[in-house]
Amino acid sequence: PARDDPGRAVPAIELTGVRKAYDAFGETVAAVRGVDLDIAQGEFFSLLGPSGCGKTTTMRMIAGFEEPTAGRVRLHGRDVTGVPANRRDVNMVFQSYALFPHMSVFDNVAFGLRRRGVPKDEIKERVGAMLDIVDLGGRERRRPAALSGGQQQRVALARALVNRPRALLLDEPLGALDLKLRQAMQVELKRIQREVGITFVYVTHDQGEALTMSDRIAVMNEGLIEQLGSPREIYEHPATRFVAGFIGTSNLLGGEVGELAGDRAVISFGPDGRIEVPLRDGTRPAAGERLELTVRPEKICIGPDKPADGLCGVRGTVTEVVYLGTSTNYNVTTSAGDDVVVFLQNATSAEDIAVRGDSVWLSWEPRHSYAIGAAR
Ligand code: ATP
Repeated sequence: PARDDPGRAVPAIELTGVRKAYDAFGETVAAVRGVDLDIAQGEFFSLLGPSGCGKTTTMRMIAGFEEPTAGRVRLHGRDVTGVPANRRDVNMVFQSYALFPHMSVFDNVAFGLRRRGVPKDEIKERVGAMLDIVDLGGRERRRPAALSGGQQQRVALARALVNRPRALLLDEPLGALDLKLRQAMQVELKRIQREVGITFVYVTHDQGEALTMSDRIAVMNEGLIEQLGSPREIYEHPATRFVAGFIGTSNLLGGEVGELAGDRAVISFGPDGRIEVPLRDGTRPAAGERLELTVRPEKICIGPDKPADGLCGVRGTVTEVVYLGTSTNYNVTTSAGDDVVVFLQNATSAEDIAVRGDSVWLSWEPRHSYAIGAAR
């Protein structure tokens, strides 16, 4: 729907045609090359991508720390392009918590409210309620140095949230924590966000983190959004080779397009025959064109027999078997020469299904494989 359609909810954050070029020592660096996105109110939205893809720059343009070279930024329907950061209704949390070391937890969280002249009773109530939400009730009088890294991060979060911003921007806020604490904080952050109902925009290069917490994810690469969708959409239906490789493990099988029928295509693989697969919206390969198909390793079955009609099947030879406790990984080279990895849960089987050197069939349901276009 169009921006002025009255039936459309106003997004919390809206970027249209946003670009950012830096001038670095006389050379132009295109950090963001044209980003369009809408973030809904109350959404947990992640910008995910490798180092240097432009996610921090995108977030800094939302916050107002950078101005776009081109394009518009709107917050809750208001065009804020050119409006300074302190006059935008957003708050930002950084990886370095930047707590005041000489102040108690309470005073750290109360700092912004005091500066704005909020009455004493109200400060007490709001800080207390926020510390309960971040699970730090009873630690009001501690100094930051007497807290763990995860607790310090939660103080920083409380300090940002107590001001009741309409959106909170978080730039790799868990980056300084060790893995176990980071995973615990991911679940905490999601719970806190649900409880306060504030829009969160989260920058991370960690795909597991983005999958765990987000309602939607924008996967960025080289200054552009490669795919935008729910964690499930992005994981199960990666739109590009980059997304397939960056999020989880994905198999890429080379094939050739045979017949096309509606939203399905018949693709042939080496000498073993044909499979019929669904095509993504907008993918229109021509007959004879070579393309790639993605299949996640856990969607594939492995066995000695040719799969039943209606399943996708490819023949191959097992090159490696790795037992991992909860699962076993099989590396298989297909008759067309593609290397495929298969993850099998060890829920029921007491022994390996195949051993190195075995000739096997790989099979999966057609809905689990997607044809993707050539890489950009
Ligand atoms: P990281 O995860 O490493 O922080 P990122 O995805 O957040 O990466 P950005 O920090 O947005 O990426 O940087 C995108 C590109 O813009 C990079 O090539 C970076 O070197 C460049 N860049 C960022 N800030 C500036 C600046 N102030 N001056 C010049 N170039 C910059």
